[in-house]
Amino acid sequence: MPAHAYLCAMDAHAPLIDPFARPITYLRVSVTDRCDFRCTYCMAEHMQFLPKRDLLTLEELDRLCSAFVGLGVRKLRVTGGEPLVRRNIMEFFRAMSRHLGAGLDELTLTTNGSQLARFATELADCGVRRVNVSLDTLDEDRFARITRWGRLPQVLQGIEAAKAAGMRVKINTVALKGFNEDELFRLVGWCADQGHDLTFIEVMPMGEMGEEERLDQYWALSDLRDRLGERFTLTPLAERTGGPARYVRLDETGQKIGFITPLTHNFCESCNRVRITCTGELFMCLGQEDRADLRAPLRAGAEDAPLRAAIRDAIARKPKGHDFDYSRQHVAGQVSRYMSHTGG
Ligand code: SAM
Ligand code: SF4
Repeated sequence: MPAHAYLCAMDAHAPLIDPFARPITYLRVSVTDRCDFRCTYCMAEHMQFLPKRDLLTLEELDRLCSAFVGLGVRKLRVTGGEPLVRRNIMEFFRAMSRHLGAGLDELTLTTNGSQLARFATELADCGVRRVNVSLDTLDEDRFARITRWGRLPQVLQGIEAAKAAGMRVKINTVALKGFNEDELFRLVGWCADQGHDLTFIEVMPMGEMGEEERLDQYWALSDLRDRLGERFTLTPLAERTGGPARYVRLDETGQKIGFITPLTHNFCESCNRVRITCTGELFMCLGQEDRADLRAPLRAGAEDAPLRAAIRDAIARKPKGHDFDYSRQHVAGQVSRYMSHTGG
């Protein structure tokens, strides 16, 4: 091979490094903006969803994600909306599983759990070892209230099925003032009994929710952590996922608790991730509006070089971090799109 051709071939697969020297090794892909729940902090009750024709097909999602794997992405998280309501989504998981051990270290998903009972075995069969399930309360009435359309027993069955299929379950709980404050120890105790990891998340200003309502629901994790410390000994863990979570071990139970604190302390400096929406927009930061259209280069032809070039151009613009801020009793850094659009 001539020297210049060799260099080009090397360049084509050089890892993605952003302007702040952060390697981009983690991709989250939203496979649908639709959902069978309407969580109050995530969606409006009457959402306008994208026309189906705007969505990438499963084949296009495959090509796009495979391009990222070819560029050094080692972890792929499938999300949404609710990923398991996308038609034939198991075909996509099956297709992605071919990258496991061949570039990809982990294939996983974030789900509300409603369809897990149906899909757990197949997911495990596709090499999914861990699943994040969002669950903010263990109280049936509250669950119906916060999700508007969800039913707790269905989700608990889904979690059971995931466990039975051999997957490790991590519960994601959005900390909501006046909503699940009094359930802190119940949630922690339940996760300890069930052997689930648990991560708390601060509510972020995304979507059209009014400022007052958003501030009303915000429960700072610094406070949650202090309350945990009143009953448990918290030992900080060095473990880093390259993400925004920080972990502690509760000495008394041995369980691991995570904290995602975009408001009280952001960890953007170690960010290793980007997100693609179901229409093929690449968001370089969850909390910023800048995006890159990958659908056009994807649909321009069968050749991947223009797609890779568009990805590299976008990564070269990855911002330093988000600007979310609720201090001074005011919501700053708000982004207008819903979390379900970018994929949480
Ligand atoms: N439907 C799936 C689910 O609920 O797990 C995946 C998509 S959902 C958008 C991903 C995560 O984002 C969930 O854990 C959800 O609780 C979280 N989320 C949604 N809106 C949020 C917000 N405004 N602030 C913080 N987390 C939010
Ligand atoms: Fe749906 Fe997940 Fe958003 Fe709830 S948090 S409305 S389950 S996308």
